[in-house]
Amino acid sequence: MPLSQTAPAASADAARSRLHITPQTILSRSPRTGAIIGEVEVATPLQIREAVGLARLAQPAWEGIGLRRRLTFLRSLRDALYRGQNRILDMLVAEQGKVRQEATLEYLACLELVDYTLRTAPRVLRQRDVRVRLLPHRRFTIERYPYGVVLVIAPWNYPLWLSLDPIVTGLAAGNTILYKPSEYASQLGEIVASLVAEADIPREVFHILHGYGDVGQALIAAHPDYIVFTGSAATGRKVAHAAAEQVIPVTLELGGKDAAIVLADADVEEVAEGIVWSGMFNAGQTCASVERVIVLRPVAERLIAAMKQAVMRYISNGDGTPSPMLAALTTPQQMEIVQQQVQEALAAGVRAIIGGRRLDGDGRFYAPTILVDVTPEMRIWQEETFGPVVAVMVADTEEEAIHLANASDYGLTASLWTRDPRRAEHLARQLKVGSVSINEHLLISGVPEMPWGGVKGSGYGRTHGEQGLQEMTCIRTLNSDRWALPLEPFRYPYTAFKRSLARRATHFLYGPTLIDRLRSLR
Ligand code: NAD
Repeated sequence: MPLSQTAPAASADAARSRLHITPQTILSRSPRTGAIIGEVEVATPLQIREAVGLARLAQPAWEGIGLRRRLTFLRSLRDALYRGQNRILDMLVAEQGKVRQEATLEYLACLELVDYTLRTAPRVLRQRDVRVRLLPHRRFTIERYPYGVVLVIAPWNYPLWLSLDPIVTGLAAGNTILYKPSEYASQLGEIVASLVAEADIPREVFHILHGYGDVGQALIAAHPDYIVFTGSAATGRKVAHAAAEQVIPVTLELGGKDAAIVLADADVEEVAEGIVWSGMFNAGQTCASVERVIVLRPVAERLIAAMKQAVMRYISNGDGTPSPMLAALTTPQQMEIVQQQVQEALAAGVRAIIGGRRLDGDGRFYAPTILVDVTPEMRIWQEETFGPVVAVMVADTEEEAIHLANASDYGLTASLWTRDPRRAEHLARQLKVGSVSINEHLLISGVPEMPWGGVKGSGYGRTHGEQGLQEMTCIRTLNSDRWALPLEPFRYPYTAFKRSLARRATHFLYGPTLIDRLRSLR
């Protein structure tokens, strides 16, 4: 099918009106003010079927135009992203409740991601020759080709970054895309779709389908060729289960309960600033937020005091109203989880040295909170909180600190804070996570050059970096003629000469001593 600009919408609308299907809608409300921002229609089963069919039909042509032309489209997408700065930032602030400067960091990371893909895709996706010692007369090549139709299911917390990343790498690799934004980021999803349209990427190649979990499940049931899911561990299990039933490969980017380990030699004031920023950025609604602090006893008291000071200095007005540097909690469910976890902890004897309650006013804001006297079996220590809440535990030894950090169902990232880089690297190798940062925590999640993903309950597969691009492709190996041999050593007839060749090769290649190897001459 040729790639064109014709919309499938007209026929879908006609069919829908024939079937008298009333579209469900998703209303976006600002978590800062409660104001209605916009409304979208939930995709109907017919629209889903149509989108999947079109994406499948269009894929060979999109693959066929070649990487150079696909990257030309993606260069236009980067330009559209650049031109759209103001409306994108406005929407991230309005719909997710972000602080504008934090929205700017998400936006900047996206520009860099598209640029990185443009720079590196030709090298990362090109075919590669492999030398095969036992078969020098044959040519072996590893080549990468797109899966086909890739389903991207995105969350609401970084709706631009976590949508554009799999969309851009998926398109670069030659896949067509089905995109389901979060129901809490539908207006931002519309902006993503408009950027793709502005880049003149053919309409059959990219399809946005709004909806709740049932639309996600319907899209999986439509049998895409690959799935990139970013979201909670609970939903990730459902996605993995549905994908496994159809043997669809899937990348799972799930939640975390990241630990920051503070060693006894740390510069306490500086560490406190770094940890507070890494725990409170976007009101803690980052998969890689610092949610647990494990501090060595000699500096524990000073660190806790310095963290409280840092909160008071930057993100607490102290009068029950939200500071301008504090993001809102995007969803009502998230507010409920944060409130429940903190209240349960306080009832069990934990102390909030600052915060511990919802802030006043119409907006959905929770006070930046630091909890001490926490114990490892508590929900606040075990489960993802996803709010501006940092729990602190004190350890007596570095071994105990590493043990506490690893004793988690999650394994996304962790950090070590110390003045001793060699000690830090030694300890880093004992942490069962996808990334370790030293004297830093959060930035790694927005670096397009570095492979990103977790272990254990935080998921599997990698996005970003060369691996992220490669994961959007399958591998096909080619085995072809290099030069002709006077006789085929492996085929019939099996002669004494061929047996002797095999025997000599065995001695020559694998003989442990020179004498063994010389036996190949006999
Ligand atoms: P979520 O799991 O509630 O939803 C994610 C997406 O899945 C949404 O689009 C949702 O509509 C869809 N969905 C819901 N039920 C589904 C089902 N049964 N089948 C298919 N799709 C379904 O997650 P969320 O609340 O949007 O996002 C927050 C979570 O995402 C946190 O746990 C956070 O740690 C995690 N996250 C992880 C990363 C990472 O890179 N590891 C990045 C950002 C967020």
